[in-house]
Amino acid sequence: MVEIKTDEALDAMREAGRVVAHALAAVRKAAGVGVSLHELDEAARAVLREAGADSPFLGYRPSFAPTPFPAVICTSVNDAVVHGVPTDYRLRDGDLVSIDCGARLDGWTGDAAITFTVGTPRPGDLELIDATQRALDAGIAAAVPGNRMGDIAHAIGTVAQAARCGMPADFGGHGIGRAMHEDPPVPNRGRPGRGYPLRHGLVLAIEPMLMAGGRDSYRTGDDGWTLFTTDGSRAAHIEHTVAITDEGPRVLTLP
Ligand code: MG
Ligand code: MG
Repeated sequence: MVEIKTDEALDAMREAGRVVAHALAAVRKAAGVGVSLHELDEAARAVLREAGADSPFLGYRPSFAPTPFPAVICTSVNDAVVHGVPTDYRLRDGDLVSIDCGARLDGWTGDAAITFTVGTPRPGDLELIDATQRALDAGIAAAVPGNRMGDIAHAIGTVAQAARCGMPADFGGHGIGRAMHEDPPVPNRGRPGRGYPLRHGLVLAIEPMLMAGGRDSYRTGDDGWTLFTTDGSRAAHIEHTVAITDEGPRVLTLP
């Protein structure tokens, strides 16, 4: 069931989204060569705590997961695409890092992700990040009343294809509100003019995940959570929570 949000709910979701943005900024600032993924999780936890928000990630256990998620962020490094579990791994020069974070404040949820490089970027990584950002921007630009879900999906897929990047089949964005994952699904590929009609008050997490090797295949790691590229190529993941409004797309997960 799709829940259309009131304008009051959108304002409340904006505050939850702001906490997510601040947590991601704190992680970005803390990240560097020698810093562990656990320490990045601690940086995000401190922001959530300070804001009085709790984490929709911590303890989350979808049907595919063997264990409840143990952290407030996902840390996906190099050939990890999404859902990376923070460990005591220490970041190295040239690592490509995707951080996904959620926050729940006053009963409303925000969800966003960033990708960045540590130290000296490896060849191709900045281009991969740029393509992922452009895919997200194109998806957000299509998130307007009168369009359909397929217009968002098509916009994202077109950028990924032009960049010769793969995207993991079966994974994409989602509706969001009181729960982190609500209807409708937001696929990263689709046909324009098809699918769920977009209207004022619909809130979506839009999240392209691009794999540099160009294949759509992925594998799940031994932890049962982390998605990896099957060809060892690197991946980027960028996400915003976006409200569709009659005034245009309203990005809720900005600082
Ligand atoms: Mg997310
Ligand atoms: Mg999401």
